[in-house]
Amino acid sequence: MESSGTPAHCPYCALQCGMNLVPGAGGTVEVRERADFPVNRGALCGKGRTAPAVLSSDVRLTSPSVRSAEGVLVPASWEEALERVAEGLGRTRARYGADAVAVFGGGGLTNEKAYALGKFARVVLGTSQIDYNGRFCMSSAAAAGVRAFGLDRGLPFPLEDVPKTGCVILVGANPAETMPPSLRYLTELKENGGTLIVVDPRRTRTAEQADLHLAPRPGTDLALALGLLHLVVAEGRTDEAYVRERTTGWEETRAAAMAHWPEYVERITGVSVPELREAVRLFCDPEAAMVLTARGPEQQSKGTDTVGAWINLCLATGRAGRPLSGYGCLTGQGNGQGGREHGQKADQLPGYRKLTDPAARAHVAGVWGVDPDSLPGPGRSAYELLDALGTGIRSLLLMGSNPVVSAPHAAHVEERIRSLDFLAVCDVVLSETAALADVVLPVTQWAEETGTTTNLEGRVLLRRRALAPPEGVRSDLEVLHGLAARLGGGRGGPEKGFPTEPEEVFEELRRASAGGPADYSGISYRRLAEENGVFWPCPAPAGTGDAVHPGTPRLFLDRFATGDGRARFTPVAHRASAEEPDDEYPVLLTTGRVVAQYQSGAQTRRVEELNAAAPGPFVELHPRLAERLGVAEGDPLAVVSRRGRAVAPARITAAIRPDTVFMPFHWAGEGRANTLTHPALDPISRMPEFKVCAVRVEAVTP
Ligand code: SF4
Repeated sequence: MESSGTPAHCPYCALQCGMNLVPGAGGTVEVRERADFPVNRGALCGKGRTAPAVLSSDVRLTSPSVRSAEGVLVPASWEEALERVAEGLGRTRARYGADAVAVFGGGGLTNEKAYALGKFARVVLGTSQIDYNGRFCMSSAAAAGVRAFGLDRGLPFPLEDVPKTGCVILVGANPAETMPPSLRYLTELKENGGTLIVVDPRRTRTAEQADLHLAPRPGTDLALALGLLHLVVAEGRTDEAYVRERTTGWEETRAAAMAHWPEYVERITGVSVPELREAVRLFCDPEAAMVLTARGPEQQSKGTDTVGAWINLCLATGRAGRPLSGYGCLTGQGNGQGGREHGQKADQLPGYRKLTDPAARAHVAGVWGVDPDSLPGPGRSAYELLDALGTGIRSLLLMGSNPVVSAPHAAHVEERIRSLDFLAVCDVVLSETAALADVVLPVTQWAEETGTTTNLEGRVLLRRRALAPPEGVRSDLEVLHGLAARLGGGRGGPEKGFPTEPEEVFEELRRASAGGPADYSGISYRRLAEENGVFWPCPAPAGTGDAVHPGTPRLFLDRFATGDGRARFTPVAHRASAEEPDDEYPVLLTTGRVVAQYQSGAQTRRVEELNAAAPGPFVELHPRLAERLGVAEGDPLAVVSRRGRAVAPARITAAIRPDTVFMPFHWAGEGRANTLTHPALDPISRMPEFKVCAVRVEAVTP
């Protein structure tokens, strides 16, 4: 394959695979291998290979549209559409106050867009009500990471360390479906003599490659981690010197773990005591080991404590902040990492600063040219924001998200969205949420614009523009510029406050992030182009004689980012999920992904090849449950929870626990899995309980 072309990165997941784009027929681009990018070394999954199809899709939006007096979306000029948005948001603000206007962003937005969106919300609209769909992705891991280490960066080490460690425990992660090129790190781990333990209620394609597969009942992986920690202590596997020198809080945590006897944990989780002992042996025998989590433990109403339990295991065994060891989170969305660092999260300012920190407010307000006291405080988290639509919040600007499909308790969220006074959506296609809008603004996509993303390793990357966008389409930065011009705000007026050139925005982001936990001040577009990415933190040289900072691929090797430099244990205990099975709803539902679709499917469902591979939802169930229901492969099944009903064909497999069914969540309509999911929130991260709820399953009679 060719290796020339414009170096770019995939628009989808957090692996941010490198690719080259070359001109194709009819003004399109084609994907070519880019072997020099170290993360994927040229490999791509089907989503990445077919990503250009969305650029030239027939269903691509190329004109703004506004809702007519008859209630239908009709084409409009940019001038008219932007006026309508400014008028809609401005009217709500004038009538009900700034916090009645909300902004909802996305983990796929570039760093520049996430930064500009946060600034737009707080400076132009003056609202505290901004959050993004990344809250539904990795927020529990972020909260647990900050609590234990003082800092959250998905992986505190590069992926290249994974094959060199001795054992990896993958908890609720299925990279065979979510990011297939990353599987080679696990293959190489095993080739090097390391072992792989997979914790998942399903025997996924990833679990098939494991040396040990532990299949706990959904919602019990906190107890599982406690059982392992109990055995670590009981078998004398604690790294006493490390615990003494590099951590605090061990005694309370140890006592909590000792209350979780292996036999008790076996009863809760369904994982046998011999399996627990084997896991401890595999994890503790080698000199180095890692725990990597993904959405399984994180998307629970006890997600922060569940991840915290796995971090406690790492700390007790001396696995964090040491070479080739540690805890990491496999972030999901393309810019899930950068998207949470630069100000579109309800409680944060650029540079991963806390919105409640007076020094952080003063610094960022100085960059923005506003009074620190004028900056609003923290707002509602993503689900709470969506739940308040039509009541506390009357108007919404939505960018890069499709909550009608991706939010929990989706029928309720859809009903809340319909009750808004005004909704504006920026998107590339008419998603299920955009279809409900009063104004739809068609925006540019990945290959049509330059910008930066930060992958799951904390590696900041430059995506370059490879082709001109279709006529009639504008960038999200141009949209914010146009709205700021109409609504006012920003030092020097909107011309200066909301530049449309991504590099100009990045230069401001560098200044705003300087000195913060996620310090990008030493990173420039030039460096990103020359160095194939730079890991944050990367502060700018302090004086003229100072060397350029190389970036920080590995965190915590000398000290953690806490006040005293020590990692903090937090004692946690097993607790039930928000909804446990009962006579009426006797089965557990868990949700997840398939390889050919991405998130709400707004883009990938429009790609022929991907649709052919994964044309619709399904209900995965065990043969014993299928027999009890009297259903055969492909029969329509109704899955009913307290929140609604979804119908999809049966897929019968012994790879799932008999007490559990699984549905992928990429589709709308009657097979929408999120119609069923529970919106109970984690008290710290505000993550909803996507991964477990109680349902009943019924055969659908024709
Ligand atoms: Fe790589 Fe993820 Fe894109 Fe697939 S979707 S090509 S794994 S970045």
